[in-house]
Amino acid sequence: MEKNATVSEIYGSLVFSDRVMRERLPKDVYRAVHKTIANGTHLELDVANSVAAAMKEWAIEHGATHFTHWFQPMTGLTAEKHDGFLSPEPDGSVIMEFSGKELVKGEPDASSFPSGGLRATFEARGYTAWDPSSPAFIKDGSLYIPTAFCAYTGEALDKKTPLLRSMEALSREAVRMLKLLGYDDVNRVTATIGSEQEYFLIDKDLYKKRKDLLFTGRTLIGAPASKGQEMEDHYFGVLKPKVSAYMHDLDEELWKLGIPIKTKHNEVAPSQHELAPVFETANIAVDHNQLTMEVMKKVADRHNYACLLHEKPFEGINGSGKHNNWSMVTNTGINLLDPGRHPSGNLRFLVFLMAVIAAVDEYADILRLSVATAGNDHRLGGNEAPPAIVSMFVGDELGALLTSIEEGSGFSEAKKTQMEMGATVLPHITRDTTDRNRTSPFAFTGNKFEFRMPGSSLSVANANIVLNTAVAEALRQMSEAIEGAKEEDFEEAVRRVIKDTLTQHARILFNGNGYTEEWVEEAARRGLDNLKSVPEAMPRWISEKSVDLFTRHGIFTKGELDSRYEILLENYTKTIHIESLTMQEMVRKDFTEGLVAYMRDLAKEAADKKAVLPDAACSLESALLKTLDGAAGKIHELLAVLTADTKTAEGIADAQESAEFYEETILKDMEALRAETDAAEALIPDAYLPYPTYGAILFSLR
Ligand code: ADP
Ligand code: MG
Repeated sequence: MEKNATVSEIYGSLVFSDRVMRERLPKDVYRAVHKTIANGTHLELDVANSVAAAMKEWAIEHGATHFTHWFQPMTGLTAEKHDGFLSPEPDGSVIMEFSGKELVKGEPDASSFPSGGLRATFEARGYTAWDPSSPAFIKDGSLYIPTAFCAYTGEALDKKTPLLRSMEALSREAVRMLKLLGYDDVNRVTATIGSEQEYFLIDKDLYKKRKDLLFTGRTLIGAPASKGQEMEDHYFGVLKPKVSAYMHDLDEELWKLGIPIKTKHNEVAPSQHELAPVFETANIAVDHNQLTMEVMKKVADRHNYACLLHEKPFEGINGSGKHNNWSMVTNTGINLLDPGRHPSGNLRFLVFLMAVIAAVDEYADILRLSVATAGNDHRLGGNEAPPAIVSMFVGDELGALLTSIEEGSGFSEAKKTQMEMGATVLPHITRDTTDRNRTSPFAFTGNKFEFRMPGSSLSVANANIVLNTAVAEALRQMSEAIEGAKEEDFEEAVRRVIKDTLTQHARILFNGNGYTEEWVEEAARRGLDNLKSVPEAMPRWISEKSVDLFTRHGIFTKGELDSRYEILLENYTKTIHIESLTMQEMVRKDFTEGLVAYMRDLAKEAADKKAVLPDAACSLESALLKTLDGAAGKIHELLAVLTADTKTAEGIADAQESAEFYEETILKDMEALRAETDAAEALIPDAYLPYPTYGAILFSLR
């Protein structure tokens, strides 16, 4: 930030925002674009031409020389290909050009992006199409245009297209319900998302010395440090000066891009932190989260840090997640999950609450799947993150209200009480009527739901595609039931649908501790799924029920679902394959190097000692040497097993079978090998190891 620039000056300074458009576009063009954004209508080419001209001028004024269609292929990352604005003239000069056609459509070669069999490599063509609902921005001298990415045949090859489709489905069904409830002025409902992002910051030089972090994002071996997170001294702790400088710089970079980052703090594990933006329209929030992750890494590099976004970079301490806060808002500004002062009399709130409850219960399996990755499998159920069982927490007050609805009994609302803190100097604060539950995967937090299962490195697109679509379907069913009951007293009909929906789906509600073994048993009794791993969950993606849901609402075709199934499975096996190879290399070379060097010195010292003290009763050196020698034998046996099994895995052609083998055999081999190396590592002085230990990495930040 230049000296004295205020937040309001830098905020959004690199964004082709609504304000910039209003200033720079002819009135009728601005109105047309605004209508497209607000109502999701189609945009004409002459309008696009006019927008392109204004965009180009604005971008050049802000130092851009190139533009790029920016998209989100199924790698989970973002992709970009840059083209210059420049166009040479016959007289040797250049002019800067950018047409409406270039703004609206791009044609990247799609053959090297995962398509899960949707396209053969010889059909290389793919298209990117401008998404006017997410603002363009400038980064590194290029104008970035958010786009959707599809195949020549129109099938989606990205995460944005189905997300936009799901937002439309949700809007359609929510508006239909609201019209039934008498809200005639509502014509659009938007999903809103605020995603809290956890991450680790570690010293860059240490990071570079570990192949496992470099290649896989997580440590594959490493004995625990003597200190972990048990003192609970890091959570919300004072920010260290260098970390604080990083966060400050990061805030500013993100603000320039119009990303409303608001909150930052230290997290539970040492070197772990969190940031959170103010919520935005789902599509923009997803784009912004992708951008946030990228900028976090880039700024970290500048500060001599590495920013780790993996779900479980270190064994034995908490991993990182991404809480997806979600709600729905009408074009008239009503948050549909706001209970208001009197939730028991708020039919609108109750209807939408029931729709979410029904959606999460009915489609718990694909919701679980929407966050299923090799990395997140290490985190879910690890007594630090929600279990793999999906359940919902609504809190005591709402819980009591729901019970009274289910039982048809009376209900009186709890009053907000004032808290007595025992010191008159302190201000009076009111106590919320509901406490929090950190163990719940899907918790109601006042006027939104917080889905806590997504992993920290994941795009939140998938989770929200599933959530939007499932809620759209629940609303559709509820609307049908209400529409079919027209002849009755209307309110009666609505109340009956609320009660029926609740009765049918109450099993998903759980206010207790989700980390306990009792819950696992109780959930099984209730018939809730406990899908522990990617391969176990994957077949649900293409189950009849899932195909019905997604095709009915036009989110995915059967072909698109199949392709995503292939890609997810492949991603899982490739991830573990790379982990296995990396671990083999680290144990075979790096770890063995340290072990052998230490054993050699021990042997030499033992021999030296024997020469001086031939009748020493017990030699520490030889005892240690013996232990390490035993460990070395075991380690190299287990390494051979992992190596052989990985070879076997490479030969399995069927994607599902291969994923199962990686989960059941390779991961187990890696665990067994790790147990031995970690035990041995604990006996080897740090100086002998060619890579930094947990202690060095986790407690090195200043
Ligand atoms: P915490 O859950 O850590 O206490 P907050 O309650 O402050 O944090 O909010 C967490 C996130 O929820 C923030 O990103 C916030 O913007 C977002 N949020 C708040 N209201 C909504 C809403 N209506 N829809 C979606 N996200 C929301
Ligand atoms: Mg939260």
